[in-house]
Amino acid sequence: MPGELDSYDVIVIGGGPGGAMASTVLADSGKRVLVLEAARFPRYHIGESLLSGTADLMARIGVLDRVERDGYIKKHGVQWVWGDSREPWTVYFKDALAMPYDYGYQVERGPFDKMLLDNAREHGVDVREEHRVVDFTLPADAAGTGTVTYRDAAGRTGTAEARWIVDASGQGGTVTRRLHSQGWDPYLKNLAVWSYWKGATRPPGVDAGNTFLPTFDEGWWWFIPLRDDVTSIGAVVDSSVLVKHRADGMEAYYTAALERTPELAERLAGARRVEGLRVARDWSYVYDRFAGDGYVACGDAACFIDPLFSTGVHLAMLSGFLAAVSVNTELDHPEVGRARVLDFYENAYRKEFARLRAQVYFLYGGHGTNKDSYFWHARSQFDVPGIDPQQAFISLIAGAFAHRSWYSRYLRQLDVPGQLRDTIEQIFDGKSTGVGVDPQRPLVRSDGFTVVEDLAVDGAHLRPARSIRTAGGASLALSPPLERLLELADGTGGSVDLVDRLVTGGAGREGAQSLVHEAVSYGLLVPAT
Ligand SMILES: Cc1cc2nc3c(=O)[nH]c(=O)nc-3n(C[C@H](O)[C@H](O)[C@H](O)COP(=O)(O)OP(=O)(O)OC[C@H]3O[C@@H](n4cnc5c(N)ncnc54)[C@H](O)[C@@H]3O)c2cc1C
Repeated sequence: MPGELDSYDVIVIGGGPGGAMASTVLADSGKRVLVLEAARFPRYHIGESLLSGTADLMARIGVLDRVERDGYIKKHGVQWVWGDSREPWTVYFKDALAMPYDYGYQVERGPFDKMLLDNAREHGVDVREEHRVVDFTLPADAAGTGTVTYRDAAGRTGTAEARWIVDASGQGGTVTRRLHSQGWDPYLKNLAVWSYWKGATRPPGVDAGNTFLPTFDEGWWWFIPLRDDVTSIGAVVDSSVLVKHRADGMEAYYTAALERTPELAERLAGARRVEGLRVARDWSYVYDRFAGDGYVACGDAACFIDPLFSTGVHLAMLSGFLAAVSVNTELDHPEVGRARVLDFYENAYRKEFARLRAQVYFLYGGHGTNKDSYFWHARSQFDVPGIDPQQAFISLIAGAFAHRSWYSRYLRQLDVPGQLRDTIEQIFDGKSTGVGVDPQRPLVRSDGFTVVEDLAVDGAHLRPARSIRTAGGASLALSPPLERLLELADGTGGSVDLVDRLVTGGAGREGAQSLVHEAVSYGLLVPAT
């Protein structure tokens, strides 16, 4: 009831996947947590396809069994009509060897988000639905408290206070929008137009739950199979389409675009639309800061990439988890230092954002067949400002070396510049270590990085750990194998030799290859002069 809310350790604004994850982990660590959620759940939300890595996050807060019991559709892979030919091709999560689960889920966000929020309640979180945050103040100093003013469904206002505020309010960014500047990505200014169908044809067997992503001249489609024979079908196009087709209306555009995608039209023969059309702008953005004194922003309140790789819920839950362990650490171990904790959070979330965004650029860039189309042309550049795409993708591979059969599949199908393709293939084959690096040429440890005292996740807290900061600003954990590699690089052997030495020392070959490649990609090892 308004007026009765008092002091909390943490107030979370928004009860979507990011807020539910953050609040549950904090409550599990004994914190008094209040979630203020503007809507009454279940509420509609877009974002229905989950990455397989999200299953791991769901298991952490004890909801994976419930998702399984509730019979959400399992997706074992993604079928694409993307790249050089219109022949459909499929990638399977089982081929991404390093993943703990070889499937993800397709979820209706209304019941799914409600289940996450109910679970937070069951873990001791004080959840107030239909409580919209209308104002806030931040703590004046590390010992102070911030306040949050809310309005409930009856229009009454009230105030609650806490040492920390977690902004999990989605694209509205209650805290971030007021305090920080939002950078828009000029390459990912998209618009989504979607609806729901019944009776669409699904492939047989294990492929029935797969996402299907066919392209057409002005964009691409998602086909996401949901429970009860419902399928979510949406087009992602350039945002200028809305202006161009204002006169005919988006209904006419949606229908005409479907007809221009034969592989999709075929699956919809005999199917019927069961809902009206929905339209949303899905421009990619990132705020210049994700955290500051007394607050952290997670999920869409900090950044958003694009619907293409289904990264939104994953990033929201991952950053919700990281926000919780960061806040836990600051509250329970103030001696660690607020600045260090915030620095850790900001770096960790930005790194994951950049890694997944590189993958999205790569996929857009790889559909090079439609040179006359504005949509594809504008996104087919491998020269995004501020990002070296070659380096970005190679870093991506470094972080996911064990998924190489997966990436090899993409390389076979996509229109990737020849030099980049060769480099990546050679890296996978163990014949190269990075762009323009001769694998036989002796390598030495470079002077272009520093080792800093940092933090790493340990259960629901952060513990001291050492990291490497590169001249380019990247941050990498200084693990014992990486330390060993830096010692081994004494200018007497090239990358192939270094891999052999690591293997002789007991490392697995794949892990050793990945490590050497990562060290070269980030400029930690350089050719001896
Ligand atoms: C077209 C499109 C397609 C997408 N497809 C996918 C997909 O297939 N897979 C995927 O993983 N992601 C997808 N996404 C992204 C996904 O929807 C989001 O990234 C995800 O929902 C972010 O979770 P969140 O917890 O940060 O925010 P949200 O899920 O948006 O939750 C924020 C909550 O905060 C509440 N709130 C807002 N303001 C206030 C306030 N002032 N006071 C109190 N409460 C407030 C809202 O009511 C809401 O419940 C898609 C996005 C778009 C636009």
